[in-house]
Amino acid sequence: MPVRNDFINFTFDTAIIGAGPAGLSAAVRARFVKSRGAFPMSAAVFECSETAGGLANFGGTKITGPSFHLERGELTARLIKDVKLFDIPIIKDRIVKIKKAAGGSHFTLSGAGGGNYRSRSVIIASGMRPLSNEIQFFGNGVEITYMGYDFINKMISGFIGDAARNDKKFIIYGNKYSMNLINLVISAVNCLKTDFDKMSPLFLIDADEKELTNDKTFKKYPFLFAFGKIVKFYGNGRLEKIAVESGGRVSCEKADRVLIDYNSFELAPDFGVKIYPAADIFDKTGFVKISASGATKIKGVFAAGDITGPYYSVSRAVAAGITAAFSAYEYVMRLKKRSGGYSLFAYKARNFIPDTGYREIDIDSSRDETPVLSKPAKIKKILRAKFPDAPGPLMDKLMVYFVQYKILAKKDFEEISKLLNISFIELNDLIAFMIDEKLLGIE
Ligand SMILES: Cc1cc2nc3c(=O)[nH]c(=O)nc-3n(C[C@H](O)[C@H](O)[C@H](O)COP(=O)(O)OP(=O)(O)OC[C@H]3O[C@@H](n4cnc5c(N)ncnc54)[C@H](O)[C@@H]3O)c2cc1C
Repeated sequence: MPVRNDFINFTFDTAIIGAGPAGLSAAVRARFVKSRGAFPMSAAVFECSETAGGLANFGGTKITGPSFHLERGELTARLIKDVKLFDIPIIKDRIVKIKKAAGGSHFTLSGAGGGNYRSRSVIIASGMRPLSNEIQFFGNGVEITYMGYDFINKMISGFIGDAARNDKKFIIYGNKYSMNLINLVISAVNCLKTDFDKMSPLFLIDADEKELTNDKTFKKYPFLFAFGKIVKFYGNGRLEKIAVESGGRVSCEKADRVLIDYNSFELAPDFGVKIYPAADIFDKTGFVKISASGATKIKGVFAAGDITGPYYSVSRAVAAGITAAFSAYEYVMRLKKRSGGYSLFAYKARNFIPDTGYREIDIDSSRDETPVLSKPAKIKKILRAKFPDAPGPLMDKLMVYFVQYKILAKKDFEEISKLLNISFIELNDLIAFMIDEKLLGIE
């Protein structure tokens, strides 16, 4: 996944948190609204893990019933192909804050990596928890409780036996809702007649210790519990260590096998994004509440996929991503005061009559800096056709200005007119033509 940090000054129409099935499908739909007269939105996806695709990377994905499925990563690969096709940047950063200034028209998203990004709308598609690099070790030390209790039972007995025999470190990672699983493990350890001390700590819980103090099992076996958040996995092919963040400090610990208890995150997600001004967009366990159109209580903030609660499935995530993207599109177009001039095929499939004078974007030449959104390949074709004698290196220089997302200053337009040897008025006409052809958008 390429790291892209060149968008700090660009105001995206929509910023999507999370590159799982919900986020990727939202991004593609936002960029490709697929309606006559609709101008594509600028979209960026933020992903904190090493790999785009979210949980759908982990196993073969059954889309409906059990009779057919997409191989591991297949669905993800297809979504990523479309994201690339539309040149949607996937920015590697963990979003930690979303802020909207009072009376402001855009949101600022802050990343853990120090970046600040601007957008007119936000789609939260962060799933049940931020991933790091667990996919690298999936099946090689990292397992996930997603396969029902029979499977978990067998796996736990196998892991515990192995850990006890071969001095391996086995960790179960979850939150305060892991107690069901913990009781299952305790009975498995009792059956194996394994020494509990040898395994300590066995459970790593992403919660405040105080939340478990009244729990019977915790009271009986406190030495089996540690508290913290796994932030990274290490090993040479197989898992060897984990980095755990606790009380603001990160430490590395031996771990040969980690079972991530998704059943607990299904009951309370790990959503670490602060929202300002604070708004109650969550239900009592921390999932984001949305309307049927994917809207949250904050105007301009939408959500889709696992972060909105059960039922957890890829097809639902993909569909909800599309819905949230359409809603964000409507919101952004209204914000740009173009209401009435846009339509969506999904809402007006039968009766949409394109307006011949329709023009989505106007040029405002009085502004010093102009954020532009362009389709570089098609622009190059037009420039080649209009300036057939322009040598290749000149064309390369020109194309530096026509990239997918860019802020152009007035002096850049002057440079372009100089390079093409045309007047500013002629350049304006050329730009207007590109806008009419929907190859160039100017905010
Ligand atoms: C082993 C397994 C098997 C499954 N099998 C099936 C199946 O057969 N059929 C089916 O329909 N479903 C299946 N599921 C469930 C399905 O994978 C999920 O429902 C689906 O992936 C949810 O998509 P999502 O985009 O909402 O969330 P996710 O896939 O969880 O993606 C969310 C992404 O957001 C990122 N993120 C989180 N927070 C931040 C942040 N603050 N900043 C930046 N990025 C962030 C995460 O790193 C992650 O990549 C399975 C899940 C697992 C684990």
